[in-house]
Amino acid sequence: MTEALRKAYTVKEEIGRGKYGVVFRCHSAITGDCFAVKSIDKRLVQNDAVDRQCLYNEAKIMQLVSSNNHPNVLKIFDIYEDDSFLHIILEYCQSSDLFDRINARPIFTESEALDVMVPLMEAIAHCHRHGIAHRDIKPDNILFNDRNELKLADFGSAEFFNDSQPMSGIVGTPYYVAPEVLAGNCYNEKIDVWSAGVILYIMLAGIPPFYGESAKEIFDAVLRANLRFPMRIFNSVSPGAKDLLRWMLCKDVSRRFSADQVLRHPWMKTSGDTGSMGVLS
Ligand code: ADP
Repeated sequence: MTEALRKAYTVKEEIGRGKYGVVFRCHSAITGDCFAVKSIDKRLVQNDAVDRQCLYNEAKIMQLVSSNNHPNVLKIFDIYEDDSFLHIILEYCQSSDLFDRINARPIFTESEALDVMVPLMEAIAHCHRHGIAHRDIKPDNILFNDRNELKLADFGSAEFFNDSQPMSGIVGTPYYVAPEVLAGNCYNEKIDVWSAGVILYIMLAGIPPFYGESAKEIFDAVLRANLRFPMRIFNSVSPGAKDLLRWMLCKDVSRRFSADQVLRHPWMKTSGDTGSMGVLS
């Protein structure tokens, strides 16, 4: 481990493993505050130019989006690099991620879904205002800290965009990926709104909106983008939530809401259903 990192932080137990990195809990040697350090083995990406690009992109983009201290974007504090490793010091999120929470309780009340959607869309809108598309919005990348505050994480697929330079290339994860990405078309930052719409649908229905038994079937369903609200599941879901889902999961990108439009939708300003179970944890 890099000497400078050892001096500044006391590295503790492993808390997770990703494609290239191992994540450890660590403490600042000066303040004693707790952080996460993501240690990426650079040798694993040395033969793959795209993966190498993603790795440095992640650190660069996180520095940019977290420079304004948005409360719902995971903060990056430091970067240490030596010949073999890149170590990224991150805000520590000790609580379970949204993936675990959805697995533990497949159907959320509207109030619980709102508690996720408002900070998630605030984080996405913040990135878009800085010209950054996250491009891999999914429950595993939505973390919570010990105060149960939502933190958007994992900017490994993120990319800069502007109106004159649309993005291209396959990114994202089955179920959450937008149809224009799968169709191989150029796309814009609204792919993040689509993915967040899939998350809202899953929280309210307990099933994905575009389902398949294999990756090919999922992709075909996403490409058709035929949005349905089965009666037996959506009977008790409010018209406002269904209206918002239609705007977020709109195949026509020019009509699909932007992140700011989602934040202004009336359902996002309600308190959800009054019989809610309160904040999830
Ligand atoms: P990936 O390769 O899928 O992007 P990461 O390397 O970013 O995954 O993270 C791997 C695992 O480490 C995550 O699933 C999560 O459990 C944990 N983790 C990542 N970042 C943090 C953090 N800031 N705080 C706490 N745990 C984290």
